[in-house]
Amino acid sequence: MSNTRESYVELIPLRDTLTNQTEEELRHTESELDIQEPELLCVVHKGPIRAETYVCPHCKAFYCRNCLDALKNRGETCWVCHNSFE
Ligand SMILES: [Zn+2]
Ligand SMILES: [Zn+2]
Repeated sequence: MSNTRESYVELIPLRDTLTNQTEEELRHTESELDIQEPELLCVVHKGPIRAETYVCPHCKAFYCRNCLDALKNRGETCWVCHNSFE
């Protein structure tokens, strides 16, 4: 399970995409980000992940622990790339 941690860390610098914005827009966006910290959205329940985060090793989709367990129990695959979670 240590692999999921490594993938998780690599994906964090999402803010790099903001550098093309004007200074004013950037400041505005950053103040908004400060309020609601980096929230990862689970692709299954479409909401912020409050518990442990899991990342699909194939497509880097985010799953919360609850949804991933549910998918595994039902024998489902990744909702994004349809690869097995194993
Ligand atoms: Zn979820
Ligand atoms: Zn996937």
